[in-house]
Amino acid sequence: MTNLLDLNYERLVSFIETFGEKPYRAKQLMHWIYKKNIIDFNKMTDISKVFCDILKEKAAIRLPSVMSDAISDDGTRKWLFDVGGSNGIETVFIPEDDRGTLCISSQVGCALECTFCSTGRQGFNRNLTSAEIIGQFWLANFFIRQQEGYNALPNSDRIISNVVMMGMGEPLANYENVVAAMKLMLDDRAYGLSRRRVTLSTSGLVNLMDRLREDCPVALAVSLHASNDKLRDEIVPINKKFPIKELMAGCQRYLEKAPRDFVTFEYVMLDGINDSIEDAKALLEIVKDVPCKFNLIPFNSFPNSGYRCSSNDQIRKFREILVNQDYIVTIRKTRGDDIDAACGQLAGQVVNKKYSINKFNLNA
Ligand code: SAH
Ligand code: SF4
Repeated sequence: MTNLLDLNYERLVSFIETFGEKPYRAKQLMHWIYKKNIIDFNKMTDISKVFCDILKEKAAIRLPSVMSDAISDDGTRKWLFDVGGSNGIETVFIPEDDRGTLCISSQVGCALECTFCSTGRQGFNRNLTSAEIIGQFWLANFFIRQQEGYNALPNSDRIISNVVMMGMGEPLANYENVVAAMKLMLDDRAYGLSRRRVTLSTSGLVNLMDRLREDCPVALAVSLHASNDKLRDEIVPINKKFPIKELMAGCQRYLEKAPRDFVTFEYVMLDGINDSIEDAKALLEIVKDVPCKFNLIPFNSFPNSGYRCSSNDQIRKFREILVNQDYIVTIRKTRGDDIDAACGQLAGQVVNKKYSINKFNLNA
């Protein structure tokens, strides 16, 4: 049974053409599904009875179900969605005055084993399908619309204005499905977000950054976290395959097509590990050829992490070194930590871990 959420416009057109239906029907279906949040074929009033019966027989619109739903004191909302086999993935909505950002997961767990990341510690089970990825958007949009006292953003009928692919998993390691889902986010027939408002965060799979630049160049964030290969090899192990120099060259190539004229480097602040003044100076040196901004992320703790967050004072000093060279540096606000929704706290529920980075095909 075909899940329509797995099909982008072109594929939906081919699918319905097999039943003799014209392309405009695909547009109608997408309007019901994504714009009106209707997934019951019977309620799609401009669809003929005959076509409706075919859809009921040959297709389905299947979404993950909700395992838990929590709202933090600061308004951040986190869902744990059931994706079968006792696996759960997390999706986080972060409301602000002028925007609503949805943080979406791409995998059940992650195989890349960054040492400071709770998802990485969980191990990896499987890639999400594109239906499960766009389904997170669908469900969040649906639930927030029902949330008491919640209004659309000013001058818009949107609730979700921005997406960050920063939930569980390494999005580029699930390339096909992530790109298919992002294309639906960008498609005017579905959610119609601009490429600048969809950000993909990667730990640095340079070969796939090159593909993304051609296929779907959205805004790019890169998890740098260290200013030398020795430390990065240790805390972001994929660095052994794509060391810093190659990563920087990949970022430069990406910018040829990117919707923004900079890359955002994410840098988690780990006390005594990567937060010295020397680290900040070395960081300036390695990024010098890449137009960029920095996003410093206070480390969010989880049980047995073995790390502590840098002091506020140290984060301020680190930031100053970068700001003095005219870089824009933001310090990520910790949102939703009372419901474990902050960066790196997304652990979901991962069972039957298949493999870890040692078996991740480093030569792929
Ligand atoms: N796999 C992708 C995207 C998901 S993680 C990536 O690594 O970029 C989103 C961001 O949160 C990344 O920058 C990641 O390094 C960071 N992060 C992971 N664990 C964290 C923690 N415990 N505290 C703060 N940030 C963390
Ligand atoms: Fe995976 Fe990103 Fe966590 Fe690293 S930081 S383990 S790539 S989710």
